[in-house]
Amino acid sequence: MPLSVEIDSQSGFCGGVIRAIGRAESFLEDHERLYSLGAIVHNEAELERLGRKGLVTIGMDSLADVPREEGESLLIRAHGESPVTYDIARELGYKVIDCTCPVVLRLQTRIREAYAALHSDGRDGQVVIFGKIGHAEVNGLVGQVRGDALVIENKSMLRQSIEEGKVRLEGPVEVFSQTTKSPSEYVEICALLRTEMARCKGMGEEEFEKTGLLKVNDTICSQVASRHAQLSRFAMEHDIIVFVSGKDSSNGKVLCELCRNVNIRTFHISSPEDVKRDWFRADDRVGICGATSTPKWLMEEVAEKILQENR
Ligand code: SF4
Repeated sequence: MPLSVEIDSQSGFCGGVIRAIGRAESFLEDHERLYSLGAIVHNEAELERLGRKGLVTIGMDSLADVPREEGESLLIRAHGESPVTYDIARELGYKVIDCTCPVVLRLQTRIREAYAALHSDGRDGQVVIFGKIGHAEVNGLVGQVRGDALVIENKSMLRQSIEEGKVRLEGPVEVFSQTTKSPSEYVEICALLRTEMARCKGMGEEEFEKTGLLKVNDTICSQVASRHAQLSRFAMEHDIIVFVSGKDSSNGKVLCELCRNVNIRTFHISSPEDVKRDWFRADDRVGICGATSTPKWLMEEVAEKILQENR
């Protein structure tokens, strides 16, 4: 059988990214320029396409410095932002176009409400967030509680934070996850936290569970969670996986690793030019997939390149 190529039908932009890009494009139909605070999507090729339409990516540091007309518009991307960012942008005269994904907005609200409850009636509880330190979404989440939350990137960081006394094991604690994290890793992190909190209280885990001192919130985006199981299947069903995503996409890194765990012949690329002919065998069933920030058109270009190279 000759080499065949299949693009994963579930890969591509998530709803939050589609919505943000759609709003940017429709704004740019009537305006020359739109500033975006940070990359609207972690994908260089898509950023170039939108850049040609007038989308200009700027960082927080240059917000005050960019040469701009009065009433310039600033897009807040799907990841969301801290409340303080909105204040700064408005003080500088920007009109804010808020494209925070509704799922992230709900998560921000839940964190604010949890924090208020954890500090009511003289309690001194703690919000713990499973996420990537410095990631825009996580910065926005931590900003909801003026920075008073502990961010944990993985199990070893949780262990270290416990040793250093940064986790209030006596409780109460509420845990949340960044929307794009791995569901299985989140389960492991929460299990470790439960074990350590129960130990601190001198209780068995069942007894501890009844105290309600640890509340775990299921906040991984359903589009991401369902993609994990489906993508593992897709990676197993193909001889070789070409995973397409921007180098800075944290969701891309997680999903590519997931593919590699079940298919050792997984290659991570960001553009068709990265494809190497010697990766392929003559009868390979090639699977192409990507992150929530990978445009469909880019995966189609990669498919075309693979077919051309192997004709
Ligand atoms: S991954 Fe989910 S929560 Fe995050 S932007 Fe996309 S749709 Fe929204």
